[in-house]
Formats: sequence, structure tokens, C-alpha cells
Amino acid sequence: MTSLERVVLASSNAGKLAEFSQLLAGLGIEFVSQASLGVDDADETGRSFVENALIKARHASTVTGLPALADDSGICVDALDGAPGLYAARYAGVHGDAAGNRAKLLRELDGKPASERNAYFIAVIVLLRHADDPAPIIVEGRWSGRILSAERGDGGFGYDPLFLPEGFEQSAAELDVALKNSLSHRGQAVAALRDRLATR
Ligand code: IMP
Repeated sequence: MTSLERVVLASSNAGKLAEFSQLLAGLGIEFVSQASLGVDDADETGRSFVENALIKARHASTVTGLPALADDSGICVDALDGAPGLYAARYAGVHGDAAGNRAKLLRELDGKPASERNAYFIAVIVLLRHADDPAPIIVEGRWSGRILSAERGDGGFGYDPLFLPEGFEQSAAELDVALKNSLSHRGQAVAALRDRLATR
């Protein structure tokens, strides 16, 4: 099996390097950012989360010759045929306009009763051992809930103030960070990846 001592993280988000290094600590893997190795951002031309994660990981692995890890995440609303979906970060038009994205989602669901506001966060993580790896490690986490009709809480990021997790009275932005991380789509995907890597 190819060595996974050094893995390039296919993201230009510095926070993600720290997050993955911490969440996957103890497995003997050193994560390096793609930026530090001169890798630019891949064009995310896929039509699903897994396709985009694969595109990003393959690009970083091809350029560096190292194993590569990539993630892709978003939020899908059943009544909107899965939108914002892949476009969660730029739903309102400008990448990263979280307040604008939430306002657009509230408009799209205006007047819909709670029963028609079901949604889930999803995170997909892909690990390619090399650029031509025919059987990448692919893990997924989903966090179900519904979209509130007004924002609640000021923690978290992105759509958290609008997301009421199933089984909870608080929005994701009102939950303690450690609790959110243990329940969330990303937390579930990372736990699955840890399991896969621990038994490799
Ligand atoms: P990315 O995979 O980091 O690019 O995230 C895509 C987008 O999905 C983010 O910009 C957010 O809008 C949304 N998103 C993903 N995970 C979360 C979360 O845990 N809370 C709130 N929004 C999220």
C-alpha cells in the first residue's frame, strides 16, 4: 500500500489544514497545504459533491505526486430539489456572502410550512493514494434537520443560524461548538475517515 506519511490537502483554506491536522491527529499523517507546494485551485466542474472532491484531490495529487485529500460540502433543501447544493457558498451570487446566501434561502422558502423545510448538510471527503488510484477512499456524512423561518444564534458560520438539527431545539449556530462538531456532517465524515485510516 502506498505510504500516507505525507498528504497534500487540496484546499486553499488555511483553517482546513489546521482542522484536518487536528481531527486526524495520531494516525502518523503529515498534512501539507496545496498552496505551500504551488498548487492552484482546480476548476470545480463536477455536478455532485463527490465529483468535485475527486477533481480537487486528483489535481493536487497530479501536480505534487503526493497522496491528496479533498473535501466538498454544502446544504441541500428537499423542497428546492437539493439547492443550494454544490453552490451553497455562492447561492446569492457572490462567493462567501453568507448573509446574502441565507437571505436568499429564506426568500426561496417564504411561506412554506415546517413540513416542507427539510434539509441536510452533507460533507464528502476523498483520499487518493496517487493520481491514478482506481479505488479512492470516499467517506460521507449527512446532518438532517430543517430550515428555520428566521435566523437564530450567532455562532458557527454559513447556514448555521437557519439550520435546526433534527432532535434539537437550538439552531446549529446556538449549539456548543464541540457538540456541533460531534454531530455535524463534517464530524461524521471525519470519524468515518479516521476509522478507514486506522485499519489501513
Ligand atoms: P466548502 O465545502 O467549505 O466550500 O463549503 C461550502 C459551503 O457550504 C460553505 O460556504 C457554507 O455556505 C456551506 N456549509 C458547509 N458546511 C457548513 C456548516 O457546517 N455550517 C454552515 N454552512 C456550511
